Amino acid sequence: MIPRLYLPVDLKEGAVVTADERAAHYLRNVMRRAVGDPVYLFNGREGEFSGEIAEMGKRGASLRVTALRRPQISVPDVWLCFAPLKKDAVDFLVEKATELGVAAFQPVFTQHTATTRLNLERLQANAVEAAEQTERLTLPEIRAPKGLGDLMRDWPVQRRLILCAEAGPAAPIAEALSALKGSVSNSNAWAILCGPEGGFARSELDLLSNLPFVTPVGLGPRILRADTAALTALAVFQSILGDGAQRPPAPLLPIGQMPD
Ligand code: SAH
Repeated sequence: MIPRLYLPVDLKEGAVVTADERAAHYLRNVMRRAVGDPVYLFNGREGEFSGEIAEMGKRGASLRVTALRRPQISVPDVWLCFAPLKKDAVDFLVEKATELGVAAFQPVFTQHTATTRLNLERLQANAVEAAEQTERLTLPEIRAPKGLGDLMRDWPVQRRLILCAEAGPAAPIAEALSALKGSVSNSNAWAILCGPEGGFARSELDLLSNLPFVTPVGLGPRILRADTAALTALAVFQSILGDGAQRPPAPLLPIGQMPD
């Protein structure tokens, strides 16, 4: 397998770039690579490049950028608004939602949110790792946490909010999203909002459901855990309103001759 690295530096053919400590550690100690070995590089803005290890020292590495492999493409403009969960559940959610092509994470505190602390650096590190492993060319944006009231007060009203509502009136998600697909008024800016493990308060659901930019949806007869609910909604979103019809980039070698 050719290591694929996110580096927050400018990339262009012929450039020699410095791998940060994390990337150098990964190449040397995790992947056990040496000078001359191939790598893929992306910076979230300029596509993906082929390259090779030019120098490898005890602390750092430098990488030569050889050719553009894929031009930049972005993910659908969908935010995931989620109430912070326990550490392991947040790690899981960030990794999987990044794989599913979320554009941004918006942490939101609700009445029944049990966790008040959220490590944004850890969130960012998980998102970088998932983006590296999933052929993404962008990193998801990680937005500053907000209380639900503030988030709704400042909401950009042209961005439609798909509310995962465990109670009250809600159309089945597939039906609701198919109906939105046909509506001329949408601006192709979307968000999904999921409640915490403790669920939404009744008053929160009432308030949210009455906002003009909100579409309440149901995810079936079972009560899902918050991470399952968020990922389910995102997967259905991608298949109906997102990029679910696209295929992964073609492998460079025919299948069967791919390196491990
Ligand atoms: N403790 C709550 C459930 C919370 S589930 C209770 O017992 O009612 C966590 C969140 O996942 C919910 O707030 C909701 O946003 C979402 N969710 C879970 N199951 C759902 C379903 N069947 N339909 C829609 N949303 C659901």
